Amino acid sequence: MDNNSMARTALAAVKYSPYWLDAEGKPSDQPTLSGHMNCDLLIVGAGFTGLWAAIHAKEEQADRNVVIIEANTVANGASGRPAAILSTSVMHGMENAQRLFPKDMDILEQLGKENMDGFKETILRHNIDCDLEWGGELTVAVGEEGLADIESEYSLYKKYGHDAHLLDKDAIQKEIHSPLFHGGLWSKARSGTVHPAKLAWGLKRVALELGVKIFENTPMLNNSKTQSGIEVTTPGGSITAPKVLLAINAFGAQHRKIYNRVAAIRDRILVTEPLSAEQMKSVGWANRQGIYDTRTQLNYMRLTADNRILFGGRLAYYSGNNTDPEGDKKIDPYLRLADNFYRTFPMLTGIKFSHAWSGPIALTTRMAVHYQRYHQGDMIYAGGYSGFGVTATRFGARVGLAILDKKDIPETMLEFATTLPSYIPPEPFRWIGAQITMYALDTVDEKAGWRKLWLAMVENMGFPVTQ
Ligand SMILES: Cc1cc2nc3c(=O)[nH]c(=O)nc-3n(C[C@H](O)[C@H](O)[C@H](O)COP(=O)(O)OP(=O)(O)OC[C@H]3O[C@@H](n4cnc5c(N)ncnc54)[C@H](O)[C@@H]3O)c2cc1C
Repeated sequence: MDNNSMARTALAAVKYSPYWLDAEGKPSDQPTLSGHMNCDLLIVGAGFTGLWAAIHAKEEQADRNVVIIEANTVANGASGRPAAILSTSVMHGMENAQRLFPKDMDILEQLGKENMDGFKETILRHNIDCDLEWGGELTVAVGEEGLADIESEYSLYKKYGHDAHLLDKDAIQKEIHSPLFHGGLWSKARSGTVHPAKLAWGLKRVALELGVKIFENTPMLNNSKTQSGIEVTTPGGSITAPKVLLAINAFGAQHRKIYNRVAAIRDRILVTEPLSAEQMKSVGWANRQGIYDTRTQLNYMRLTADNRILFGGRLAYYSGNNTDPEGDKKIDPYLRLADNFYRTFPMLTGIKFSHAWSGPIALTTRMAVHYQRYHQGDMIYAGGYSGFGVTATRFGARVGLAILDKKDIPETMLEFATTLPSYIPPEPFRWIGAQITMYALDTVDEKAGWRKLWLAMVENMGFPVTQ
């Protein structure tokens, strides 16, 4: 059987929905808003950014009247869909931080470490059961050509005091038995994996316990500044608040102004059936790290608590920043990902996939959180984490709240908080550019040629697509 037919067979019974959302423990839905109400702080969107912001606001000032409205239900957006590999960096990795804000590296790294420690502490303090594992983050060199990438990353890790280790071919083969892996960079402390839906549901429980009111199935339709504050309208009512935090991440790309700097890209994931003890032995992976590889169209992978392999990383863009494309609920977009899976783990050839899904990534020329100010700074959009947001959202929410409250904490003075990413071209150029880029990413490692020039041009525009 050729690779394409094998992938089709393995995907035949797949469920096009995140594996994470099948977990037990989903809390009951909160009511829909009807009528008018006032509050001190309104948060729009109940993904990680919105939930962390609500918890932070309440922990800081218990009598603050905080409300969240969510268009769907908690964990419907990116927060219920990631690989959920935990990174210390709050700027989409150290190389990206170095590219963007070299003079702030020391403080950004320090803030990232504090954020990760606070992330862990909050989860433990509130007893959130979310399958946290601290196996570390491992970047694997695919082929000899990947070795230079991990060596340069290693020097950055060491410079900023991470517990990082370079693995040669023998050492990486002892960890994971993939014939593709020629070396590795393992950052052992302060990183690992989590069950993202259980985390989001746990944060929802904590927010409710702290007195936050949450309205689900309640989309913001409009907002305007009135004499009594910002009025946000929903299908069944309205809320007036002096301060509004837009925690809508990639969904913001559907809003006229946010759209200028944010594109809603899709990223795709496959999950296998649970591996047997024998299959696990054939793969290795005893330390259960979250893994990224050095391919240009990067793949990432991790184990779930019941020993499935989650394998992700195939970008797409649908015209108009579509955040729920029907095109991603069919086999075809997942075939190349399945093929890459079998090349990575040939000992598992033929294993079936149980789940396939895609999720919205808020892409900017920064690939990291930024803040857009509206209504004289009384409404802030906080988003743009790209593919690194599970822990960075906690940091992004805390700083976003300080900006909204006009508090002079050192973070709000740093360049990432005071400046904006560049404009992104509108449609149809956005769609055309994205199609060529996705094709180049898929084929550059085998065919190079014009693809390298195109990707270099895209990088010059500010998108670090090959990082
Ligand atoms: C496939 C994939 C893999 C990823 N892997 C990783 C990873 O391994 N590690 C990592 O750190 N990060 C990863 N990420 C990124 C991470 O998931 C996100 O950065 C993070 O979840 C963003 O959280 P958020 O709350 O800002 O956005 P979201 O979770 O998208 O939340 C936004 C919420 O706003 C709601 N909303 C939208 N419009 C409105 C409106 N008008 N009114 C009310 N509510 C509205 C949406 O319904 C949604 O619930 C991945 C993302 C994807 C998609």
